[in-house]
Amino acid sequence: MRDQIKIMDIPIDKVNIEEALDRVKGFLIEDTLHVIYTPNPEIVMAAQGDSVLKEAIEGADLVIPDGIGLIYASKIMKTGLTQRVSGIDLMGEMLNLCNREKKSIYLLGGKPGVAQLACENILKKFPSIQVAGKQDGYFKEGELPRIIQEINDSKADILFVALGAPKQEKWIYSNYDKLKVKIAMGVGGCVDIWAGTAKRAPFIYQKLGMEWFYRLLKEPWRYRRMMVLPKFMLKILLDKSH
Ligand code: UDP
Repeated sequence: MRDQIKIMDIPIDKVNIEEALDRVKGFLIEDTLHVIYTPNPEIVMAAQGDSVLKEAIEGADLVIPDGIGLIYASKIMKTGLTQRVSGIDLMGEMLNLCNREKKSIYLLGGKPGVAQLACENILKKFPSIQVAGKQDGYFKEGELPRIIQEINDSKADILFVALGAPKQEKWIYSNYDKLKVKIAMGVGGCVDIWAGTAKRAPFIYQKLGMEWFYRLLKEPWRYRRMMVLPKFMLKILLDKSH
């Protein structure tokens, strides 16, 4: 049975990375589409005022807690989330699994050339993966039918969608009925990390739960978006005290 908690009414699966990967294995042996999202506090806050985003997350098959703020919130609410499961880590495990089982992937998103670079680096590390296709994330609305057709014709097992949040979540949600892959997962900036055009925070930041701070140092223009983090914690504390 699926063990979920709610943070500000948004469902999050209570899983560690091994359990998340077990779920992925289960999805791969079924023939229907399964959706994976990796929300952080920014997305949970965005979903408060965005019913489509909220519905998309509610309808997903696996929602992993990708953000230390969600773990803090769960500790405050005593709902039992104990560890962060980041999208980049789960994506790495999924690629490893695809390599072992010779599964195929399609990478959608990133600036022109970035998905190509990411695929090259993925293949260097996981040579048995079948790269079924790739496409940058700056296509026009009119190109959508062609792209969906290409994804479906590629027979990819897993579609990684890197259009940034919440665009990627909504993209998967609105194209749910058309996609013929086994898994569609929103992976955001992971495509840049695989391409080498962005760097993941050093391990010490990850360990201390300060990956967000590293990102703020590297991409200071994000501060506006990140201002939502203290608001998120404050709302959790206020909700708790009521
Ligand atoms: N991106 C895209 N199409 C868009 C917007 C963004 O392909 O219309 C890509 C962007 O180039 C980057 C990725 O989405 O590679 C993640 O973007 P961002 O870092 O803003 O998102 P986050 O990781 O915070 O969700």
